[in-house]
Amino acid sequence: MEKIKSIGIMGGTFDPIHYGHLMVASCAVEAFGLEKVFFVPSRIPPHKMNQQITSPEMRYEMTLLATMDNPWFSVSRVELERNGMSYTVDTIKYFQSEFPDYRIYFITGADTIVEIVSWKAPEELFAMTYFITAARPGYSFSGLQNEFYQRYKDKIAILEVPELAISSTGIRRRVKMGKSIKYYLHPLVEAYISKHQLYR
Ligand code: NAP
Repeated sequence: MEKIKSIGIMGGTFDPIHYGHLMVASCAVEAFGLEKVFFVPSRIPPHKMNQQITSPEMRYEMTLLATMDNPWFSVSRVELERNGMSYTVDTIKYFQSEFPDYRIYFITGADTIVEIVSWKAPEELFAMTYFITAARPGYSFSGLQNEFYQRYKDKIAILEVPELAISSTGIRRRVKMGKSIKYYLHPLVEAYISKHQLYR
C-alpha cells in the first residue's frame, strides 16, 4: 500500500516565535512522518484585532531566523501576501492547491483547538484538513466533548509534547521588565529583539 504523504501547517502570530512553537513542530514531524512543516505567520490574526502586535514583516523575519537551521521547516508568506483578515480556511485552500496529493495537518496548541468552532467556515476546514493538537501530558481536553468536535474526532490527533510553559506573552512581559529571555527562544531571535528594541 502506498504511504500517505503529509505536510504540517503551523499557523501563528509568532510575536515572538519561541521554543514552544519549535518543539511542537519538531514533535509533529517525528510522530506523523511529516515531510515538511510550513510556519505561516498571520498578517492580521482575526482574534487579535484589538491588540497591538509587531509588524508582519518583523514577525516573519523572526520566524525565518528561528527555523532556518532545520531542513524540515519552511516559512510561508501566504498570509502576508493576502489582503484582509488572515483566515486559516483560506490558507488551507492555498496549501491544498499547492500539494494536491498530500494529507494536510494543521498544528495547534490545546487552547487553540477548542476555539476552531468559532472560526470562519469550521466545517469546510475540517473537511480539508486534519489537526494535530499539542498538549502537555495530562491535559484534559474537556473542551472537545461537545457535539461539534465529536463529529470530527477522527480528524483530531493529540500529540504529547514535553512540558514547556513558554508563551509569547510571557516573553514580551519579561523583556518589558528587563529580565533575560535566554533559553526561551532561538538565540538569533533573541538578538533580533534586542537589536530592534522590541517589546520595551
Ligand atoms: P501563537 O500564539 O503564535 O501560537 C501558535 C500556536 O502554537 C498556537 O496554536 C499555540 O497554542 C501554540 N503554542 C504556543 N506556545 C506553545 C507551547 N509552549 N506549547 C505548546 N503549544 C504552544 O498563535 P495564535 O495567535 O494563537 O494563532 C494560531 C493560529 O490560529 C494562527 O494561524 C491564526 O491565524 C489561527 N486563527 C485563525 C482564525 C480564523 O481563521 N478565524 C481565528 C483565530 C486564530 P495555544 O495558543 O493553544 O497554546
